[in-house]
This record gives sequence, structure tokens and C-alpha cells, in this order.
Amino acid sequence: MPGIIGFYPFGEGRENWDASRFLYYGLTALQGRGEACTSIALLESESKKINIYKDNTHVEEFYKRLSENKVRGFIGIGQVSPNEDDGLIEVKEPIRLVLAGDGKPGYQGNRVEAFYKLAQRLSTLLTEREDPLDAATQIIKEAGIGFSFVALTEREEMICCRDPFGVKPLEVGAVGFDLGIVSSESAALDVVGAVHSGPIQAGECVVFDPLSIRRRNIPNSESRAYCAFEYVYLARVDSLLNDMPIYNVRERIGEILAEEKEAEGDVVIGIPETALPFALGYSNKTSIPVKLGFMRTGRHIRSALKPTQFERIMGVQLKLNPIKAAVDGKDIILIDDSVVRGNTLKNTVLNLRRKGAKRVHVRVGSPAIISHCPFGTEVPPIDELIGRALSEEEIAEIIGADSFAYLSIEGLLKAIGLPRDRLCLGCFTSEYPNKEVRK
Ligand code: SF4
Repeated sequence: MPGIIGFYPFGEGRENWDASRFLYYGLTALQGRGEACTSIALLESESKKINIYKDNTHVEEFYKRLSENKVRGFIGIGQVSPNEDDGLIEVKEPIRLVLAGDGKPGYQGNRVEAFYKLAQRLSTLLTEREDPLDAATQIIKEAGIGFSFVALTEREEMICCRDPFGVKPLEVGAVGFDLGIVSSESAALDVVGAVHSGPIQAGECVVFDPLSIRRRNIPNSESRAYCAFEYVYLARVDSLLNDMPIYNVRERIGEILAEEKEAEGDVVIGIPETALPFALGYSNKTSIPVKLGFMRTGRHIRSALKPTQFERIMGVQLKLNPIKAAVDGKDIILIDDSVVRGNTLKNTVLNLRRKGAKRVHVRVGSPAIISHCPFGTEVPPIDELIGRALSEEEIAEIIGADSFAYLSIEGLLKAIGLPRDRLCLGCFTSEYPNKEVRK
């Protein structure tokens, strides 16, 4: 689930733009999609060479280290990733290009290798086809489903593609007639001051060159399988995804959760940040007051993404210190966005009890995660997924809660407002949008 971004200036004096600064703000906005590796590539105005910078750290630290260098370039792309050494892909020939990718073309194997193969093929196609739009269209036809990418060539083209089912997001925006910007999330466009124009459609490619922006869809690209997990967890709450505000989806999830799995309590508390709108929705529906239940210490750490047990536990302690005044002596309805292994939730329930909570009823704003993601989202091995093996009652017991319940699949569909055949629900159902995907 990396976050990707591309920045392309137009017009006279375009070579004076500092793409690196825009990438800094854009990648900071996308940081929630991964913080183990940050990389950028900049096309330098005098040499017309692409320079690549990559480091296994988060955006702020990456830029601190960069500032000692003289980093310049007027066109740029960037990527943040949840995995170390998972940065921009470089292909040197026949045409040198650098690629930022989300997802996994070809479904199987290593993500970085899969994108390297795709980038190599794109480089070859760019020499074989006169029009880069033809090359980009061909790539979309060949590379399966479950990816989006932004590639920068030394011929000053920026090539952006979204897979034929639109599993992975890609949004486009502009600053007047001066700049075109493409990003995994619309919130990153807001942050850099761009006007969001809308999504790049499933099966669509967009090619930026010094004189134009051209778009083309592959023929008959009517199929859709938008990642449902983006709506629940991955995307920022201030983003629009496929023209749908994430905030609205998450508030509706809370309302539907209250209808489906109502609990008796004195206060509703959402686990920051993702579950806060779920809690608002639950409270709207039940009239049980919503309270700010936790204070975070330090930088935002998405604890579910941390690779080791130690880091997961440290993550939850940094993220979630319960506010005693809000929870002491109360029956709590605790809302979380998703449950993977259950360890962090167990700690959270324990911490609430330590601060005086009487009862803790846990409600989860997504169905049980029971399977892997073939499209590159980090999901632990299936034998570690608590929702695969245990019932809701058993999970309540293990995490020390008074009750525990998930949102249903039907509830999720209702909240997103799309039918089942327009979404990928694979990690919740083990059924994937393409039969070629291994279960
Ligand atoms: S398997 Fe899950 S995470 Fe992967 S694309 Fe489908 S819904 Fe999204």
C-alpha cells in the first residue's frame, strides 16, 4: 500500500520549479501509507538527468538527511512504503525511467521484482511505439490487475496508469495551467495547494509531456474492483476515493455498526485516528455520547504495520494513552477500524481497564480479515489472523472485552454504497476479483 505522487510543471520558466519541495509536502500527506522507506526522483533542468534519492526512513528524516545535499529538479516523482528497500524502481535502458508503484502487477511474488519487470517492459514499449500513450495502454492490457504507477522518463514524460479494475487508487489534480499532479490520495493534492480534478479511471493512462496532458482508457474497461480496505482503513479520512468522500463512508460504517451490533454503554470511544468517524456515526445513531478517549504520544505510528511484536506493543503504547477522566467508572463502547492479530486491541482494552473502565464492548468497523492480499497490501500470514480461526465470543475472551463484534460484509457494502461486484473484498472473503488470483 505505498503512497505515490508525481509533479509535472508546464509553460515558460517551468524549469525553475522546485519539485522536491512539492514532493516533501505531498509525501508527508501520504505518510500513513508507509513510513519504512521514502524515495524521490528529480529530473534536473540543466543535465536533463534523473537523480534518485532513497532511504529507509520516514519523510521528515529523509528530507533532513537530504538537505545537506543540493537536491534540485523541476519534474519529480516520489514514493513512501511500509517496507524497507521498497523504493522507486529504476530501469536504465533502452529508455531510462524511474517508477513509483502501488499494488503488485501480476499478483504473485515479490512486489519490487514485479514492478521492475513492468518498468522494463514499459521502457521497451516506449522505444517500440511512437506514442507513449500507446505504450502505456499496452502495459495496462498486459500487467493484470491490482496496481497503479507513476513513471518519469528522461525524455521528460510522466506516465501514469491505473489497472483495468481500479483496485489501487490514483487521483489527479492541477495548480492552474502551471502544474499537473498525480497522487494515491486526493488529500495530498489538497496539501500541496492543487485542485483535485478526480480519479484516474480504472484502465486509464495519463501521459504528461512538455506541451500536453493526454488521457486514454483501454477499450471495454467497465469492470471495477476497488479495494474495500482503502475505504475502511488505508485512505486518509480527508480524501475522496473514486469520487466518494472517505469521511462519509466511515461515519456511515459507525451508524450501520450501531444498527447491526448495538451495545449498552455510557460513552462511545473511537481508537485514533481511523476509527474516530466510526465512533461519531455510532454515537449519532444511538445518542450515546462520544468522548475523546485517548491521547497519543509522539509521531503517528500505524501499529498494525510494525513488523515485530516489540514494535507493535511499543506502537500501541505510544499511540493510545487512555484519558482517565473520560473512561473512569464508565461502560465503554470501543470502536476500532480493523483487527489483524488482536494484540494491539488486547493491550488497549487492558489499558482502558487500568484507567477505571467498568465494561468494554468492542465494535469493529470492518468484517473479519481472513485472507491475504494478492495486490500488495501488507497482511500477516493467515495463521496469525485472529478473525480466521476464532468466533466473536472467543475473541472477546482473548482480548479481555465484555463483548466483541464485527461489521458485516453487507454493512460494509451499504456504507461504501457500491455493489459487491464493483469492489475487491478479498481479504474479508477469500474471493478475489480475478479468478487467476491464487487463494
Ligand atoms: S484483498 Fe483486501 S487489501 Fe487487497 S485489494 Fe482486496 S480488499 Fe484491498
